[in-house]
Amino acid sequence: MNTAFDAIVVGSGFAGAILAERLASQASLRVLVLERRNHVAGNMFDAPDENGVLVHRYGPHIFRSDSERVIAYLSRFTEWHPYQHRVLASVDGVLVPVPFNLTSLDRLFPRETALDLRRRIAEAFPDRIGVPVSELRRHPDEALARLGQFVFDKIYRNYTLKQWGLPPEKLDFEATTRRVPVRLNEDDRYFQHRFQGLPQDGYTALFQKMLAAPGITVRTGVDALEHLKPDADRGLILADGQPFHGPVIYSGAVDALFGCRFGALPWRALRFEHESLPVTQFQPAAVVNYPNEHAFTRITEFKHMTGQVLEGRTAIAREYPLEFRPETAGSGGTEPCYPILCEESAALLKRYQEEAARIPNLHLLGRLGEYRYYDMNDIVTRALEVSDALLAALPSKTQPSSRER
Ligand SMILES: Cc1cc2nc3c(=O)[nH]c(=O)nc-3n(C[C@H](O)[C@H](O)[C@H](O)COP(=O)(O)OP(=O)(O)OC[C@H]3O[C@@H](n4cnc5c(N)ncnc54)[C@H](O)[C@@H]3O)c2cc1C
Repeated sequence: MNTAFDAIVVGSGFAGAILAERLASQASLRVLVLERRNHVAGNMFDAPDENGVLVHRYGPHIFRSDSERVIAYLSRFTEWHPYQHRVLASVDGVLVPVPFNLTSLDRLFPRETALDLRRRIAEAFPDRIGVPVSELRRHPDEALARLGQFVFDKIYRNYTLKQWGLPPEKLDFEATTRRVPVRLNEDDRYFQHRFQGLPQDGYTALFQKMLAAPGITVRTGVDALEHLKPDADRGLILADGQPFHGPVIYSGAVDALFGCRFGALPWRALRFEHESLPVTQFQPAAVVNYPNEHAFTRITEFKHMTGQVLEGRTAIAREYPLEFRPETAGSGGTEPCYPILCEESAALLKRYQEEAARIPNLHLLGRLGEYRYYDMNDIVTRALEVSDALLAALPSKTQPSSRER
């Protein structure tokens, strides 16, 4: 490993794959990518199920971006299937758009009440297209405040409790609903980004193309921590027992890298229950949320997102939030999904970051490496920035040519 490669990348999600692609294509480095799962593409991995329906194994991934750089970079590796994401929520047995909008209002209230609320909304917010749920709940017009409370209780409260598994007094609902809008029109697009879509041939194909750059060697089914050992006291990272001096980009869990020596960082996890069904369509939208009934939070039907046309066959996934158990990670058990940000986890993270900073050629990256929630646009942006910095710091013989390839 030490002489055959110039750089080692742990993980093949966007963090790892982009760093590998940039270092190999821009500086002709020989890059080894180690991936614990038996496939590349990280959480974005998609593959056909037994009936040929393309399924996102780790939950629905919809790409959206307003960044020219991110869109242009990813478009080198894929064409796009344009898609506008729409989500429904089951409320008292009725499916309504979320974020809650005027269509949701019409579906859940008797006609006269809905008309009255629409009139009050138009008077109270003449120039606005949205209002946060928390603001509506505090509105001086009692009917509007009641509407805000209704939306909070029926759509967000129990969903948030299920998602985080915490008692209500531990959750900051005010913070949760401050950003969540009630739309004051009929716009039912879940995201409002300029660019939205899915890779035409799926995410896995995009990653395979990215990792096909000359100079990249990918080894799947390999836990990097069986080969790499950080030695912070000596400022070194050992690869199979020998100091490795090239860049090591680590996008696995930062606490695991140090054997959880200061304690495990807390995560909220998800379990996905995938099912193939002998029908053309199961539900009217890609995602239906179940805030108040069932143990799962939502059901995704993938064909709505991918645009795949298949008669008499579809695939769905139910999503169950649960506590993360590190001992089952990577073995088809729970997957760490959302960092639980609190004072204790911030203090713990800081200790791991300080430890990592003692090893100059070690770079922590990505949602697991940096212990933060990144959406795809954000991690692609970050990975490109980190690769810019690494490329700029390389000795001149490996500097990229002035015209980026
Ligand atoms: C349920 C869910 C839905 C999401 N939906 C969206 C969406 O619709 N749109 C959006 O923009 N973003 C979405 N995201 C966010 C998206 O998943 C992240 O932005 C993305 O995964 C970040 O990429 P990454 O490379 O940092 O991490 P990952 O994709 O998790 O990649 C890390 C890789 O490192 C590997 N690894 C870890 N430890 C080791 C080890 N010891 N040895 C070798 N390999 C290791 C892992 O197996 C994994 O493949 C969603 C996230 C979740 C949880």
